[in-house]
Formats: sequence, C-alpha cells, structure tokens
Amino acid sequence: MVYADDGAHLTEAMVRPTVCEECGNLLHTEPWWVTKFPRGVHTRCRDWARTPFPLKRQLDVTRKLSARLDGEAQVCATAAMRWIARRERHWPQGGAQTVLDAFAMLRRLRTKLSALGVSQKLLNQL
Ligand SMILES: [Zn+2]
Repeated sequence: MVYADDGAHLTEAMVRPTVCEECGNLLHTEPWWVTKFPRGVHTRCRDWARTPFPLKRQLDVTRKLSARLDGEAQVCATAAMRWIARRERHWPQGGAQTVLDAFAMLRRLRTKLSALGVSQKLLNQL
C-alpha cells in the first residue's frame, strides 16, 4: 500500500505521457501534443496531413480581439488573424512548421499587446 498526502505524484506517474508515440523520445524536451489521452506526440512528429486545422481557437480569439481593440493593438491582432486565416486556407501545407511558427507568432503578439496595455484577461484567451 502506498501512503501519499494528496496522490498527485501517483496521478502524474500514471497518466502523463512521457515518450512520443512516433519517435519514442522524451516528450518534454520540445513542443508536444496530447493526441489520444494520455498519449502524446512531438509537434514535429505529428501527422498533420491527417489533423484538422489546429489553430481554429486562436483564429477566433484574434478575430474577437481585432473587433474589440483599437489603434496599434487592433492592427497587431488583425495581422495575426490574417496570418492564421492564410495558413488555414493552405492547411495542411507546412504542417509542423506552421504550428511552430504560429505559437512563436502568438507569443510575440501576447508580448506586444501586453506592452500596449491590453488586459491580461484578454491575453489569456490567446
Ligand atoms: Zn517525436
């Protein structure tokens, strides 16, 4: 019998994926996705050709921000929305690189919008 204060370490050991389903290397060394819980694959290993466009939520959020913000913040949100919409039209072309580029772009957008005074509540949706 195992005695634990809260059992959190047991949950982590049992449920969290640790190796990539495709390449077998450790997941946590680079960006990865949960595919079929609790399994996971690296971004670069995922079969994006058979995956629906994964940035629909981010497209919706940037569209919402674009409508809600003004000035330079609106220009930045609109540019991000258009960038994502363009990638959606050509999906799955670019696959993993599109996903990696998108998350890098969204990190830059968050930093920029934060510097422009956009509330953390709105930024957390990105
Ligand atoms: Zn992998």
